Amino acid sequence: MSAARRAPRSAGLPIRDELRGLTPYGAPQLDVAVRLNTNENSYPLPDEVVAGVEKALSGVLRELNRYPDRDAVALRADLATYLGHDLTTRHLWAANGSNEIQQQLLQVFGGPGRVALGFTPTYSMHPLLSVATGTRWIDGQRGEDFELTPAGLVAQVEAHRPDVLFLCSPNNPTGTALPLEVIDAALAVAPGMVVVDEAYAEFRRPGTPSALSLLPGHPRLVVTRTMSKAFAFAGVRLGYLAADPAVVDAVQLVRLPYHLSALTQAAARAALAHADVLLVTVEAIKVQRDRIVTTLRERGLTVADSDANFVLFGRFRDQKAVWQALLVRGVLVRDVGLPGWLRVTAGTPAETDAFLNAVKELL
Ligand SMILES: *Cc1c(COP(=O)(O)O)cnc(C)c1O
Repeated sequence: MSAARRAPRSAGLPIRDELRGLTPYGAPQLDVAVRLNTNENSYPLPDEVVAGVEKALSGVLRELNRYPDRDAVALRADLATYLGHDLTTRHLWAANGSNEIQQQLLQVFGGPGRVALGFTPTYSMHPLLSVATGTRWIDGQRGEDFELTPAGLVAQVEAHRPDVLFLCSPNNPTGTALPLEVIDAALAVAPGMVVVDEAYAEFRRPGTPSALSLLPGHPRLVVTRTMSKAFAFAGVRLGYLAADPAVVDAVQLVRLPYHLSALTQAAARAALAHADVLLVTVEAIKVQRDRIVTTLRERGLTVADSDANFVLFGRFRDQKAVWQALLVRGVLVRDVGLPGWLRVTAGTPAETDAFLNAVKELL
């Protein structure tokens, strides 16, 4: 963690007022043995997936003089097959990470004079992308245990009438998935688009439904997903959405021509062809996640239910001191800025051992 704070170099430039004083998104990346702070998948790609991606990439190298398929049709077809739920190519859209997907959604449905509503603590990119697209961000209220109830959500949607409503399920940083009743209640009253960020959907506990099941009959519902977490593909940058085909047509109004490189499309298709192998790793991570939840509760800590590959735990009088004490023991977790709480990513058994041993020493 480097130099003392100084005025940003951009301070003298005529940048937009709403960007003044902001700092770029980013978690501190420290050189620590056990890094459990960014919810990446701790497992590298299995050898057979590496081989598949290599073959797919070499297959397109000789065509790199040409622009890629602008509409990424083959990839979208593969994504539809992967998701199931009777979805087709026309329901799917892909971009460089679900961040770009959400930015495109805000470019089409938000913008100057329009409002996005979300509920912090939640994914910090939702407010940042809103501000960057000139959309006014309104921070809604959650309950005491970070919960969103159907009644609470409906009241806030009716009060603020957002053009874009952001829900995150499972929510980052709390880890818990939203009951479908809550999303359903929002859909019944929302005047604009309802975006459900399901970046961690593959990690949800058995019996937890996906908002994909609500797509039929809800033309303003958008479910965003990513290959960054469950597919261990964060370095590739591939996110996607599923929605009514009219939504897919709408985002094409703002996408940059050829936004998704031929290399990205080929790599993503190769990984999807090995989805079964990659999802075995997801099951292994869920075992570690459940072990972290159970062990921390046995030690008397408060732990949010997790449907993700991370766990929010507390409550500490001073979470900064606990963060530092874990760091001294070689374990980097995330202080998400919630007084009393810390977030840890579930990874390999050895990483869980290191984390739980460090916690044991502290308590
Ligand atoms: C990690 C994460 C993403 C991923 O974004 P990509 O751009 O697809 O890597 C999206 N939403 C949430 C809530 C996340 O935690």
